[in-house]
Amino acid sequence: MLAAAVLIRVLIITGQSDVQYHDWHVSTPVLRAQLEQTGRFDVRVTEEPRDLSSAALSKYDVIMLNYNGPRFPASTEKAIEEFVRGGKGFVAVHGISYGEFMGHVWKNNRWNEPPDGNPGWPAYAQLIGATWKAANIGHSARHVFDVKWTDRQHPIARGLPESFVANDELYHKLDLQPGVQVVARAWSDPAQGGTGKDEPMLWTTRFGQGRGVHLPLGHDLSSMAQPGFIAALTRSVEWAATGDVQPRVESAAAKARVLVVTGGHGFPPEFFSLFANEPRIVWRVAATQSEAFGQKLAGRYDTIVFHDMGETIGEKEQANLREFVEAGGGIVSTHHSIVNYTSWPWWYQEVIGGKYFVNAVPSYPKSEYKEGVDFVSKVVKNASKHPVLAGVPPLPAHDEVYKGMWRAPGVEVLMETDHPLNDKPVVYIGPHPKARSVYIQLGHSASTMLYPGYRRLVMNAILWTARWPSTAN
Ligand SMILES: [Zn+2]
Ligand SMILES: [Zn+2]
Repeated sequence: MLAAAVLIRVLIITGQSDVQYHDWHVSTPVLRAQLEQTGRFDVRVTEEPRDLSSAALSKYDVIMLNYNGPRFPASTEKAIEEFVRGGKGFVAVHGISYGEFMGHVWKNNRWNEPPDGNPGWPAYAQLIGATWKAANIGHSARHVFDVKWTDRQHPIARGLPESFVANDELYHKLDLQPGVQVVARAWSDPAQGGTGKDEPMLWTTRFGQGRGVHLPLGHDLSSMAQPGFIAALTRSVEWAATGDVQPRVESAAAKARVLVVTGGHGFPPEFFSLFANEPRIVWRVAATQSEAFGQKLAGRYDTIVFHDMGETIGEKEQANLREFVEAGGGIVSTHHSIVNYTSWPWWYQEVIGGKYFVNAVPSYPKSEYKEGVDFVSKVVKNASKHPVLAGVPPLPAHDEVYKGMWRAPGVEVLMETDHPLNDKPVVYIGPHPKARSVYIQLGHSASTMLYPGYRRLVMNAILWTARWPSTAN
């Protein structure tokens, strides 16, 4: 059994497909991301499999094949066979169970049996555990159907509900090789052009000491976006590599829940692109204080992103926010939200740890700003190992400088600037002992919001304050 901290090394082999039906350019990044998002795999991709050798493959635990095209050179086919025979894994999905590897010949706009009886790559049928007579190649109409786990004790299926929903082509009439083990099946509906039988939807193979899985689902990106497909795929790759599947929260449940609060100050619409298409979070936007904080927040969100600006805040809103903070909720406060809640010192003194005073108060002078300044923010030397800074480079920005702000003694500064028109700290962690709170001063200009290093910083801060991926749902 593999320790949870050791990543499984996956090589996706791709570079060709029958692009009128299945486009490897489109599917490969999605398969890669689905594997990576589990936190279990270190995934690499080759688009030039013709050069693969046994030495090159020896770095990996499992091959994921996403290729349908010309035969590989004999050296590559032999290297793959040796890899699996020696005890490694082999996984393939939809669109690879016909074609030249199977000896089929494309003629008259369809696949045909080889006129000379040439079986193609002889080991291939054993690797995927099936053959397909040319006349049988096909599927029922693309539709939505249930896939039943028929072997629920198998590590790939263990702990999952008894079935999952597919939105896919339902391949039929494949001939399974002797010795394969079927783990899931789906009923092929004659009304959809199917066979009226249960067709195998996931099966395992043995090849020497190695393990294989074939999952004939995954026609297109909608098919691949089904949660059941993602679970079946990622578990299959893990099982093929290690012979087991570690318990984990399935990806659909593992997202950090984020509330994004705006209102009280304008901002470029590019702000929302910081959150869009980010698979590790689900998020909603509230544009007023009552919409954002008018109801209970603790337990509903893992992190709140503040991009609002207001001097005052109501009592009910304060109570809900305080409860959220005391329960260990996450806070990411950006740019002008440092003005927030002059009427509520607990907020800026004990949670955020900083304050921009729009007007002088008896104890503190007015802060100052200037828009459109070029300045560079850099990681503070002894903070470079902080998770919020992972992969964050120096950030040159054309943004807004702030000067003369108040800061709490307990803040931990992560990034700073030497620009004379800005205070030194630019990114810091607030002092509250229970909540994780990060303030990021940058975030006035669209160019900042689109800058990759800034986007990384914001998402790191969201995930760290949300305590993702250990987020309990
Ligand atoms: Zn297809
Ligand atoms: Zn601004």
